[in-house]
Amino acid sequence: MECFMCKGNLEIKKVNYVVDLDSTIIIIKGVPAKVCAQCGEQYFEDETAENIDKIVNQLKKLSTEVTIVNYSEKVA
Ligand SMILES: [Zn+2]
Repeated sequence: MECFMCKGNLEIKKVNYVVDLDSTIIIIKGVPAKVCAQCGEQYFEDETAENIDKIVNQLKKLSTEVTIVNYSEKVA
């Protein structure tokens, strides 16, 4: 598999996913992604993207300014 942007090689890595909402910033640590070794573009599996959506929906109701969670703790 190669990068859609630059055709570089993709490496499987754990990344920090940051969601910047109006009222809060959510940081999800340790999200599995394919990362381009050349340009740094990140790709997520469909299942991972769905899990991110669920986590964000769950957390955005909180009124804290910054929320940091571990992906592996939120996805059983
Ligand atoms: Zn690339």
